[in-house]
Amino acid sequence: MKYGTTGRIARVDLTRQSHRVEEPEESFYRTFFGGSALACYYLLKERPASVDPLGPDNLLVFASSPLVGSGIPGANRYTVAAISPLTGFYGEGEAGGWWSPELKRAGFDAVLVEGRAEKPVYLWIHDGQIEIRDAAALWGKGTGETQRLIEKEVADSKVRVAAIGQAGENLVRYACVVHAMKHTNGRGGMGAVMGSKNLKAIAVRGRQPVAFKETPALKRMIKWYADHFMDHPIERVLHDGGTIGWDVTELDEAGILPTRNFHSGSFEKADDICGKTFHEKYFIEAGGCQGCVVRCKRVARSDGPWQVDPTYGGPEYETAAAFGSLCGVSDLEAICKAHELCNTYTL
Ligand code: SF4
Repeated sequence: MKYGTTGRIARVDLTRQSHRVEEPEESFYRTFFGGSALACYYLLKERPASVDPLGPDNLLVFASSPLVGSGIPGANRYTVAAISPLTGFYGEGEAGGWWSPELKRAGFDAVLVEGRAEKPVYLWIHDGQIEIRDAAALWGKGTGETQRLIEKEVADSKVRVAAIGQAGENLVRYACVVHAMKHTNGRGGMGAVMGSKNLKAIAVRGRQPVAFKETPALKRMIKWYADHFMDHPIERVLHDGGTIGWDVTELDEAGILPTRNFHSGSFEKADDICGKTFHEKYFIEAGGCQGCVVRCKRVARSDGPWQVDPTYGGPEYETAAAFGSLCGVSDLEAICKAHELCNTYTL
């Protein structure tokens, strides 16, 4: 298409250690667009339902979308999809951050990976080029160390890396893919599929902006959203407090906060793990994704006994509920540490 896509899809066969570029017709993009729809197309067309999710024949799809990079707030996401090791059926996880816009600037709308490398590898996709690189030095490392080592190897501190940690390498069936140590494709066990292919990471970097038809109406809409998103009560709460700032208290008051393995819907120490307490004790700054004014992400830090590293972001509502009330735990610093470790190991 003239606008919004690069018109190029990278295909990598790790068994053969080869790669090629597909350039689909405009009708393909108009029919399957990007993200989940594009991933579904390839998986349903090319893979039988019986494919082993952790075998070399599974197809792993990283797919961006036509609006990514347009400047529309929230249009920064990407899908990672494959036959899921959790369900044996189609599975996918979505994440924001910066990886998806960078993939398009590097010259590709999607990356399709099949086969299994004999030894650990990572993909280095930059300015229209695809390289399969040795990842022996990265294997066994968490996401932070992986990011640092790849930055050093490609001599670029702005490289965007989507990686697996130890959970993906060891084929934990709910392992995630994590980008920039904090943006997580968290569903369906896509990290385990990466691990099964001996694929440690996909690093992307590009300097070629994708063309968008920047009509006055589009510019007006983007500006209107930036000026008015705080008028909406949910957007305002997400901006001011993140998901932890809203859901823990709201759900506890409504009697539906997951508590003690779902035996209860109310946690007597909900105040200890809520957004207000988090902001008073461990919050250092808000974070976000490319082009998004909401900035709903939280960044946590603690120099206390748990030593929480801000590199890995901070807890969402799900973290506070899953490690907190659901387990009967009210130590918010420990919950922040659990969040850090999950993003390190890609759990
Ligand atoms: S900052 Fe929050 S609202 Fe904005 S794109 Fe990222 S996850 Fe979505």
